[in-house]
Amino acid sequence: MTTKTSLLKVILLGDGGVGKSSIMNRYVTNKFDAHLFHTIGVEFLNKDLEVDSRQVTLQIWDTAGQERFRSLRTPFYRGSDCCLLTFSVDDHQSFLNLGNWKKEFIYYADVKEPEKFPFVVLGNKVDVAERQVSTEEARQWCQENGDYPYYETSAKDATNVAVAFEEAVRRVLAVEERTVHLIPTDTVKLHRKPRSAAACC
Ligand code: GDP
Repeated sequence: MTTKTSLLKVILLGDGGVGKSSIMNRYVTNKFDAHLFHTIGVEFLNKDLEVDSRQVTLQIWDTAGQERFRSLRTPFYRGSDCCLLTFSVDDHQSFLNLGNWKKEFIYYADVKEPEKFPFVVLGNKVDVAERQVSTEEARQWCQENGDYPYYETSAKDATNVAVAFEEAVRRVLAVEERTVHLIPTDTVKLHRKPRSAAACC
């Protein structure tokens, strides 16, 4: 039985304001205040977890601020093992933009076999009363675009946040070809140093 820990890079993509930083923050710190991360410019947070007896360190990247620095997309997207395409259920335009985020990711991350790449779709802010995107509409999009898993999340009250990340890990581990790329964390340096080690990981 192996006890090796694998490092997986997961990236959250979607329109500004859909709750990417809040989801990351909820998952890693169990708090609902993404403001801190925007302010100090943290680019990723690490989270250790066990999925189906596999030890995994997730390196979760958020696009906070990246929307303003489009030229950084390539190093930011490259090497991702999974992409969480995120929209807000109270913002129909953010749902319509999912396809663009997917295309952009495939292009800049240089994904060789997009049909095999593990995308997971998050419809965030399910705690809000006024929805603009129905569950059925979102599920249909996921089905038609690659049979992606779909989770309705709330960073505010933590609904489905952990299970969505766990499913993301399962999807990565299930893609056999990618298994050979999994790197033990004891032999790898993180891609970029967080700007504040105290606030990160
Ligand atoms: P980002 O730009 O995609 O990283 O979005 P943020 O995480 O900065 O969130 C944008 C706004 O939406 C902030 O005011 C958050 O407090 C709010 N927000 C994020 N997630 C949720 C959620 O699940 N429910 C509600 N009601 N608000 C949320």
